[in-house]
Amino acid sequence: MTGTDLRPIVLLLGPPGAGKGTQARFLRDTLAIPHLASGDLLRDHRRLGTPLGIEAQTYMDRGDLVADQLVIDMVMERLGRPDARRGALLDGMPRTRAQAEIVDGMLADRNSAVRAALYLDVPTEILVERIAGRWLCPSCQATYPGRSSTPPGNGTCTECRDQLYQRPDDRPDVVQHRIEVYLSSTVPVIEHYARRGLLVRIDGDRSISTVRMSLVISIGGVVIGRRRARWHLFVNHDFRAVSGDAPWHGRTLCGHLVNSHTDPGLGSEDDFRSHPCHECHVAIRARPGGISHTGPRTR
Ligand code: AMP
Repeated sequence: MTGTDLRPIVLLLGPPGAGKGTQARFLRDTLAIPHLASGDLLRDHRRLGTPLGIEAQTYMDRGDLVADQLVIDMVMERLGRPDARRGALLDGMPRTRAQAEIVDGMLADRNSAVRAALYLDVPTEILVERIAGRWLCPSCQATYPGRSSTPPGNGTCTECRDQLYQRPDDRPDVVQHRIEVYLSSTVPVIEHYARRGLLVRIDGDRSISTVRMSLVISIGGVVIGRRRARWHLFVNHDFRAVSGDAPWHGRTLCGHLVNSHTDPGLGSEDDFRSHPCHECHVAIRARPGGISHTGPRTR
């Protein structure tokens, strides 16, 4: 089995309120792979009243973790569906070292592997503040900042028009506990992927588009254009972080195919900031349809 045979799995790690949901929708569209959030899957089970949903309910309402094997079986079943054939973005999972070890083993059995673990790092006091005021769309899971008692705008999602709601486990007393549970159980997960050289730590306490830029760089890089000295953001075809010496290939956010044989060089985040391709820059804001949906373009 070679690296390119593998179905890549990208992990999005970070405490509640770190912005995983917001960034996950962007990564899902950019990479054209499904976004599988263990919390959303559990909430679906609760809504449907399945045995798993009923069992998970008490743990979730307290802000405690649901039993490892229940969550793993649920996520692995979801990963087995056809839309996850090209890979998937896992959000909120694994949450414990035991989950990480079991998931790694099960992925290997399915000709798959974790390619990158992206950790959104945000100070606890900012997390509590963000969550206390957040409202969610029940359909697309978009989050809207507001005040804890009043929904933002007219109280509906700007995309789906559904009535926004607040999660019951976003209450301040439960939130503090959820963050503590997350940090104590997930630090070993972060260490686990750091030891394997897969962890990318991203400062999540910055604007949404700046965090997006760092995320793209972590799964691709910054490459200088051939004709014009503009720096493009690109996503590696197999979603691996690009190292300086290894050959790399992928697609820029503005839709060009790039690789290390034909393009002059890789730059840094600062290079992109100082002289960005305008279209790549625009694409790090919300974008309907991913770069993989655009047909191949060559320069
Ligand atoms: P989240 O939407 O990620 O904040 O998750 C909401 C709740 O679902 C958590 O507080 C846990 O009770 C449960 N949960 C989500 N993912 C997991 C997981 N990987 N392992 C155990 N419990 C989880």
